[in-house]
Amino acid sequence: MAEPLYRLSISELAPLLATGEVSPVALTEELLARVEALDPGLNTYVTVDADGALAQAREAEARLRRGQGTPLTGIPLALKDVLITQGLRTTCASRILENFVPPYDATVVARLRQAGAVFLGKVNMDEFAMGSSTENSAFGPTHNPWRRGCIPGGSSGGSAAAVAADLCLGSLGSDTGGSIRQPAAHCGVVGLKPTYGRVSRFGLVAYASSLDQIGPITKNVRDAALLLNCVAGHDPQDSTSVDVPVPDYLGALARDIKGLKVGVPKEYFGHGLDPEVEAAVRRALDTLVSLGAELIPVSLPHTEYAVACYYIIATAEASSNLARYDGVKYGIRDEARNLLEMYASTRTRGFGPEVRRRIMLGTYVLSAGYYEAYYRQASQVRALIRRDFEEAFGHCDLLATPVSPTPAFCLGEKVADPLTMYLSDIFTISANLGGIPGISVPCGFSSGGLPIGLQLLGPPFGEATLLQAAHAFEQATDWHRRRPPDF
Ligand code: GLN
Repeated sequence: MAEPLYRLSISELAPLLATGEVSPVALTEELLARVEALDPGLNTYVTVDADGALAQAREAEARLRRGQGTPLTGIPLALKDVLITQGLRTTCASRILENFVPPYDATVVARLRQAGAVFLGKVNMDEFAMGSSTENSAFGPTHNPWRRGCIPGGSSGGSAAAVAADLCLGSLGSDTGGSIRQPAAHCGVVGLKPTYGRVSRFGLVAYASSLDQIGPITKNVRDAALLLNCVAGHDPQDSTSVDVPVPDYLGALARDIKGLKVGVPKEYFGHGLDPEVEAAVRRALDTLVSLGAELIPVSLPHTEYAVACYYIIATAEASSNLARYDGVKYGIRDEARNLLEMYASTRTRGFGPEVRRRIMLGTYVLSAGYYEAYYRQASQVRALIRRDFEEAFGHCDLLATPVSPTPAFCLGEKVADPLTMYLSDIFTISANLGGIPGISVPCGFSSGGLPIGLQLLGPPFGEATLLQAAHAFEQATDWHRRRPPDF
């Protein structure tokens, strides 16, 4: 029996759509029906836009008939609810924005729209992208499709779970400290965080502006290259987006990895790493060697300070970015006797506990008298972490590491202990502090049947090499082809 359409990847469907063998309307209807049937058990979507998606699919169909399609025309995608969408509610999974309908599109959304993509809706996340488990959503947690009751990772947990469960063909997430790579690893899909500045952040609701970056979450590496081709590139509306040419990321996939120098940082294989995760990642390293790569032991000596450094910088920036939600400019507003009480009451009701915790922490580390002790020191440590990477990339093309120290944990397991939750980001946050790109590809399963990811990190603007190596690895393995059973 032929595979159902929802099981296919973007790159498998694109030629079928181009020849008219598959209709974008039929494809969109099939996915919407699947979302309606299965999403209640997973909670990946915050908002489903069936009417909008069908209208876009009809337009795509007409465009394809005129022979003016792109590889994304008629492809149903889901967007993390931190990306603003004209006329479609954008909540950041927060009560404070539960009624916010943006008047314009984020640049990445506009670019996908221009390419003819179809948006099924907006997917769940930790509130304002603060978290590692999607449990900090005001709309309830998302479940891991591989095992309900487990977290899908976070903060782009809705994106990763929706891709893994075939509730969309691909998604865009955002990654401030691992939020694309870690949920991709926990859900057995591919997640790519580009170099800081590679993709425009215009219209991405800011969490920590010097760390945030948008990237694809997809069923395979080829689809990640396809989506990155569409969204990467300079944008005059984001002053931190960098004006360097965008290579053809699909073209990079054709190259083999013979002679590629892959650094293995010893700090990523120490205490706290689950033995099953370690075994899967070491087997993945063997696979890279069998494909012609050379492994080089390296050291990133400042890794141990990354979590502390990140949680100072990220919370400081968050406390400033979230000052704009004051009941006046966006979202909900509480009635009160005077302005100050209105601010306090709106923000207290609108923000969840983790967001409040981070605003307080960030305000504290920026306050007079503490700025030198915390924020300035963290900025200095950040420079050392960046230098560690520069040195490693002086003699390596890529680095290979685990994504997360453990497979997905149970819902509720770490909620009461924020510090343990923060420590689970240990392997992903350095890339954001250094501004470098990283990709997570499926590399195995735990004995409990939960996916494990391999992380590849590259030098700034090294996405093509990351995709090339990840694709070569994927061709030699079949982890990315496994799908969780429907339930
Ligand atoms: N888990 C990290 C945090 O809570 C990373 C989140 C992210 O990348 N958006 O800040």
